[in-house]
Formats: sequence, C-alpha cells, structure tokens
Amino acid sequence: MSAPEEKIYDLIVVGAGMIGSAAAHHASQIPNTTVCLVGPPEPKVRKGQDIFGCWFDEGRLCYQINRNKIWCNLGAKSLARFRDLEKLTGVKFYTESGYAYVTLDKSTLENLMEVNQKCGFEAQDITNSWKNIFPFLHLPDNASVVWQSVNGGHIIPRKLVTAHQTAAQMCDAQILHKIVSTVLPSKCDTHKWDVVTECGSVLQGHRVLVAAGGFAALKPLFHHVAPQMVPDLELRTQTISYLCISAEEAQRLK
Ligand SMILES: Cc1cc2nc3c(=O)[nH]c(=O)nc-3n(C[C@H](O)[C@H](O)[C@H](O)COP(=O)(O)OP(=O)(O)OC[C@H]3O[C@@H](n4cnc5c(N)ncnc54)[C@H](O)[C@@H]3O)c2cc1C
Repeated sequence: MSAPEEKIYDLIVVGAGMIGSAAAHHASQIPNTTVCLVGPPEPKVRKGQDIFGCWFDEGRLCYQINRNKIWCNLGAKSLARFRDLEKLTGVKFYTESGYAYVTLDKSTLENLMEVNQKCGFEAQDITNSWKNIFPFLHLPDNASVVWQSVNGGHIIPRKLVTAHQTAAQMCDAQILHKIVSTVLPSKCDTHKWDVVTECGSVLQGHRVLVAAGGFAALKPLFHHVAPQMVPDLELRTQTISYLCISAEEAQRLK
C-alpha cells in the first residue's frame, strides 16, 4: 500500500469531528472515490491544545420536532439512520429516551404542534399531564410541554464520530491523525490542492472539504475556495460550565 503522501485523493476532508467524519463516510460510499479524512483525535491532555472539537463529550440531544422545518427534516433524516449505522459498525451511540420541549410561550407550543401534525411526528402536548408523567420535574405552572417519546433522545458524540469513521474505513477511506496548517493550490497538473499538515507532510487531492468546526478560522484553510465564497468567520470566546455530579447522583438519575 502506498504512503498517504504518494496518493492523489479524490476528496480530502479536513477535520475529523461530527461533520467531517460523517462526510468522509458518505463520500467513501461513492464508487471509485478515494477519500482521506485528516484531523487530530481527542487529546488525552487538553491543556496547551489550541484546537478543540465539539464532540469531546458524552451527550447530545437529538430530536425531530422543531419550529424550523429544515431542522425537522434534518433531525428526522439523521435519526432514521442511527440504528443502521450502529448495526453496520457495532458502535452503539444512540439512546431513544424521548425528548421534551418546555416553553412558557403559548404560540411556540401551537407552532410546534402544527409542525408535528404536518410532518406526521408522534409528539404530544402534555401540558395538562406532565406532572403525572414527570413528577420529578419542577416547572412553572404556566409551562407548556411537548413530549416526543420515540424518535428522540440522546447520542454520545464521541461514539457517533467513531461509528462514522469505522464505516468510512470499511469503504477504504484513509484516516490520518494530523493537524492541517494550510491548503494550497498545487504546482503540479496531476491534482488541484496540496493539504499541508503541521508535521510537514503534504497530501494531494482533487477536492478539499473543510469541516474544522468552530476552529476553522484558526489556520488558513480556505485557499481552495473562491474569494467571494470564503466563510466570514470570527473567533469568539464563550463560557461553558462543566458540571460534575457524584457517582451516586449519576446512579440515582439512571
Ligand atoms: C457544549 C456543547 C453542547 C452542544 N449540544 C448539542 C446538542 O445537544 N445537539 C446538537 O445537535 N448539537 C449540539 N452542539 C453542537 C454540535 O456539537 C456541533 O454543531 C457539531 O459538533 C459541529 O460539528 P463540526 O464537525 O462542525 O465541528 P466539531 O465536531 O467541533 O469538529 C471539528 C473537528 O475539526 C478538527 N480541526 C479543527 N481545526 C483543524 C485543523 N486545522 N486540522 C485538522 N483538524 C482540525 C477538530 O479537531 C475537530 O475534531 C453542542 C455543542 C457544544 C460545544
């Protein structure tokens, strides 16, 4: 097998996170398409790392019902694939525990129930009965609650990434654990783009997809994009609380 640097890939995906791993998986299913997914794994020690991935944790909500129809569609389509992906790869990442949406705004409730009916989802308005169904919840008396018991719950992002990467490898995609420093136009006429990694290796590709998430603006990764199409990205800080509960409390909540 030739070294990654000697090959010319049809597609190089930069960023092995939630979107990049899924994109590599789907692209690798296209017949006669060679795919290379390049990005670092989750670091063992976070201190000193400038690049972060939004998938370095254990819980993401997933649901169909949404006020925005596009998100409804995307949610429904993603959920419909989860079990097949688990079966294919043997990686379990989805728990169908249901999804509850709480609002104090009656028009939001009406809007959600309208979407629910139009899309044929199974959500219910449990505003009058939530206290019996979820006696442990403390919500304001004027809260409206929408409950979808199926096709909703939570996924483990780390495992979803592993599942997509496993599936991509089953279709012969290559995965390289490297950080990309830049993407440059190739000087050869055999391929269009050189993807340069921080350790100095150069990957050659006809197309490049940047899926570097919130940290895409940290390195010059958009030389392959027409100037008017370069995403207008701005790095900002955000405070996120890290809540830690005891093992006993975790057990109680299960
Ligand atoms: C705290 C938190 C809670 C969230 N909760 C939810 C939720 O409940 N439901 C939901 O749907 N969404 C949720 N999201 C959003 C969701 O996680 C993100 O939308 C999703 O992860 C974005 O995927 P991505 O692939 O664009 O980015 P990421 O998953 O962050 O992946 C980007 C990858 O690119 C890599 N990378 C970056 N720069 C480079 C480079 N130069 N070279 C190589 N690789 C690079 C990174 O290492 C990373 O692995 C949440 C996000 C956060 C932070």
